[in-house]
Amino acid sequence: MDLYEYQAKELFAAHGVPAQVGTVARTVEEAIEAAEELGTPVMVKSQVKVGGRGKAGGVKFASTLDAVRTHAGNILGLDIKGHVTRQLLIAQASDIAEEYYVSYLLDRANRTFLAMATHEGGMEIEQLAAERPGALARITVNALTGVDATKAAEIADAGKFPAEVRDQVIDILQHLWEVFVEEDATLVEVNPLVKTPEGKVLAVDGKVSLDDNADFRHPDHAALADIASENELEVKAKEKGLNYVKLDGQVGVIGNGAGLVMSTLDVVAYAGEAHGGVSPANFLDIGGGASAEVMADGLDIILSDPDVKSVFVNVFGGITSCDAVANGIVAALDILGDKENKPLVVRLDGNNVEEGRRILLEAAHPLVTLAETMDDGADKAAQLANAGV
Ligand code: GDP
Ligand code: MG
Repeated sequence: MDLYEYQAKELFAAHGVPAQVGTVARTVEEAIEAAEELGTPVMVKSQVKVGGRGKAGGVKFASTLDAVRTHAGNILGLDIKGHVTRQLLIAQASDIAEEYYVSYLLDRANRTFLAMATHEGGMEIEQLAAERPGALARITVNALTGVDATKAAEIADAGKFPAEVRDQVIDILQHLWEVFVEEDATLVEVNPLVKTPEGKVLAVDGKVSLDDNADFRHPDHAALADIASENELEVKAKEKGLNYVKLDGQVGVIGNGAGLVMSTLDVVAYAGEAHGGVSPANFLDIGGGASAEVMADGLDIILSDPDVKSVFVNVFGGITSCDAVANGIVAALDILGDKENKPLVVRLDGNNVEEGRRILLEAAHPLVTLAETMDDGADKAAQLANAGV
């Protein structure tokens, strides 16, 4: 999960990294109120999860409340690379003498952590990295030893930070490492880290990506999620503990196991070519259990997607055998009642498949069709979706 700048700065502050003070605003009036409280001059900054806001006109200096009104009005709604601005950060403007760059990231290619730093920060860091790669220091950070004062000094010196800010930068690098490790981030970036004319160093921008795989260790991170901009069904699925991703087709897909669901998507997409070009409407892995409740939750989410015209349930019975899955489906249909109003194609295979089929045939739900093979099922589901479109 990527964070907004204002959230990144909140984490910085919580871990002792000096950062520019600011307030979030969602309307022009809120922006003016925030500026009144902070005192002008302020920066009016678009909060979107994409870089290069400054160049796109999303970061403006405002020396008066009138200027705040103008800039806030212009930036709210501003589209930056497909991200529409819904929130602003009103930040106490800093006088800037110098702009630096520091970051920590997970270097997947080299299976390690990496620190990057340079005294030549600011907006053109990608350009600097491309044109003069030598000017951007890259220092490997060992996961076990991390960044202590000695390591921080190595990074600061490699980035050629001026002597008068060296101690501050060394301190900041250690606190930023704390953000990286304690928050389970995969990226922590400050660009620019600035020196004020008085010689104080602070973070004026911030970018943090959190590792979702570590969410279980951070109940507080849930509050950082941007529910409003997430897909409603994906949010609902997450609440139910389901692995659901919305796609843009018409055939709802349910399977057990990520591998099976992925192949089901391929098979449905292929079958759809012969049926008006219909394609999968979602990825949904209900995992190993396939209990009635999980099946009902999964079906409920898929059926509440208005794009869905048919559903393909493709389950391979393993530890949870096919009869248990079939009973799960029958019970789920009971739980859903009238909500189940779209054709459902079920293909069962694996452990105890005969008994599973028998249970479904006996239940004889009018909207349920049994398929012998995965290809047959995909073809049938695609055909039904095409007929329902
Ligand atoms: P980005 O373009 O998305 O990286 O947004 P930044 O927050 O980095 O802002 C872009 C640029 O605006 C910075 O590189 C600074 O040059 C400038 N800027 C941002 N905040 C301030 C500030 O408080 N004072 C001044 N003078 N310039 C700022
Ligand atoms: Mg920046």
